[in-house]
Amino acid sequence: MWSRGAGRSGCWRRWWGWLSVGEHSAEYRAYIASAKWRRLRADMIKLAENKCQACGAASPRLSVHHITYERLGKERPSDLLVLCSFCHEHADRKRERDVAASAARHHWNARLDGWATKRYGEDWNYYYDESEVEEEFEEWLDRRGDDY
Ligand SMILES: [Zn+2]
Repeated sequence: MWSRGAGRSGCWRRWWGWLSVGEHSAEYRAYIASAKWRRLRADMIKLAENKCQACGAASPRLSVHHITYERLGKERPSDLLVLCSFCHEHADRKRERDVAASAARHHWNARLDGWATKRYGEDWNYYYDESEVEEEFEEWLDRRGDDY
């Protein structure tokens, strides 16, 4: 599910970076201003027949929403959604929540791995059942009174 040895805390920081900087990063702004994005955007709106893909409203002011920024610059059609301004606002909030949940999960996995590595060694998830080790880790946290 997540790659081992890929720099655990660095990984977490990258996720957090997306969450806090998100669409205001220089890379994002440069891309959104590019001819490539404007063309893709126009194609998506045409494909959606000038209607919001969430509520179906025909609107002259449609936005093309990124469901995910994972493939920014090389989006798949399924990464994008044509939305009216109302649905767009709603979708932005949902994406923020999804990113936060995913970052929290990532952080949890990193903590679990650190703990299990200390206890069982580097290849713990090769020799032990991950869900059992996770339960053990939770119990250990409970005993410590760590309510994370
Ligand atoms: Zn809509």
